[in-house]
Amino acid sequence: MALRLFNTMSRNIEDFVPIHEGKCGFYGCGPTVYNYAHIGNLRAYVFLDLLDKTLTFMGYDITHVMNITDIGHLTGDADDGEDKMLKTAQEKGESVLQIADFYTKAFFSDIDKLNIRHPDVICKATDHLPEMIALNKRLEENGHTYMAGGNLYFDVTTFPDYGKLARLNLEDLKAGARIVVDKNKRNPCDFVLWFTKSKFEKQALTWDSPWGRGYPGWHIECAAMSMKYLGEHFDIHTGGIDHIPIHHTNEIAEAEGATGKKWVNYWLHNEFLVIAKTKDSQEASGKMSKSKGNFLTLQRLIDRGYSALDYRFFLLGAHYRSQVAFSWEAMNSAKQAREALIKRVAKVLDKAGVTNPEDVEVLKLKDRAHANGKEGTGTKEQKAWLEKFSVALEADLNSPKALSVLQSVVKSKDMSAVECAQVIATIDTVTSFDVIKEACKSNKKKLARELGSDDLHANDPEAAEISKLVQERTIAKKAKDFARADSIRKDLADRGITVTDTPHGAVWVRD
Ligand code: AMP
Ligand code: ZN
Repeated sequence: MALRLFNTMSRNIEDFVPIHEGKCGFYGCGPTVYNYAHIGNLRAYVFLDLLDKTLTFMGYDITHVMNITDIGHLTGDADDGEDKMLKTAQEKGESVLQIADFYTKAFFSDIDKLNIRHPDVICKATDHLPEMIALNKRLEENGHTYMAGGNLYFDVTTFPDYGKLARLNLEDLKAGARIVVDKNKRNPCDFVLWFTKSKFEKQALTWDSPWGRGYPGWHIECAAMSMKYLGEHFDIHTGGIDHIPIHHTNEIAEAEGATGKKWVNYWLHNEFLVIAKTKDSQEASGKMSKSKGNFLTLQRLIDRGYSALDYRFFLLGAHYRSQVAFSWEAMNSAKQAREALIKRVAKVLDKAGVTNPEDVEVLKLKDRAHANGKEGTGTKEQKAWLEKFSVALEADLNSPKALSVLQSVVKSKDMSAVECAQVIATIDTVTSFDVIKEACKSNKKKLARELGSDDLHANDPEAAEISKLVQERTIAKKAKDFARADSIRKDLADRGITVTDTPHGAVWVRD
């Protein structure tokens, strides 16, 4: 079996054949940093992370590129509405760059909480003006552009394949079916490549260009930056389904209009997160979006007592191409299921005598059954379980099926506890629920409770400080810095605190 992916371009599931054997370059549209990401946006990045880690699990050498949009994105995707960044900057009385910096940090803080790996290249639009201007120039040289009302436009009638991704019919669209028409546009689908004086005269960030001082349209940034880092022809491009009819359609026209050849081989799109209509929900039902005000952040979930990884678990419980309805009831189920999984893993680790997450060996590709037919050296049973997991992911990243394999592995009886722990840890390199770490923690807490340890009072600031010192002592001991370890133990003893080393790590009690 090989990896098979649903390609929006063909509307078919296709075998994934990389351009360069063993490698995969992919680009995911990143956030517009004018506000916190909502949990719908975060679905797009959990999906990207699943793609990233599945490819790595299967042995591909990946280059994952993601942009940060800090200019040019209007509230309407088709050049209508206000500039999102400018609007927030004006409301908050701060500069556009301050806003971008603040929300970029907030975005990566959410990404980290969700155990999403950072892309290999993270590129800010404001750092890539020369590339965007150069791409616009190529389009101009190829006869795809015109100037009107101070803006540089892409003329979609010069690109016969326009709309192929979304299967748009230009004739129907000409009849005015799609959007509010900008009077400068020759055709309703034409779009701006470069804005000068026509829009937002008070635009904070402008650059010199052959078309006058101004700023780029939103789509050109993704076309220019993806080609800079991945080349003019690359494997995969992703985004939410809302990007199919305008943003990705226009990116294709720009990239292929400039190079004259095929740009991306596989287009992958995640479905929406919507808000379920329930008695309990105070949010408006329907697609989650900032403009509708039914906007939940990850922090809101954390404030209600969920872990970010419960949300990850909730999302991966559905296939990325199915719509997912968010509700607090569904979050409760995800939380319970993740906790139950951790409890089972804790039993496996207890049986295996594992107390430290680092002690569980992750089976490297060479040691396990591999989808591409490479022979591994894991046990027959380990290979069989990992093969089942692989098969689920190979079927267009079927994460619900992959999760059910994980649920079955923890209950399996055909491996030793150590072997089972190794398979769990290997699967969790993709699912990233931190099950091994959480299970070790849970075993340690259980033991501390049995010993009557005070280590459990995490909300007490003094207890938190003592736990930190105990941890420092453990680190010092591991580093063979026994003088430091002994001095911490003595300081704690002077404060009436006894530290005991157990198979589950150090625990402490007050005298
Ligand atoms: P934005 O920051 O608005 O450019 O959106 C970031 C990503 O989130 C894009 O890939 C969107 O397609 C995606 N997205 C936006 N709303 C949702 C939603 N409700 N559910 C899933 N993905 C979404
Ligand atoms: Zn994009």
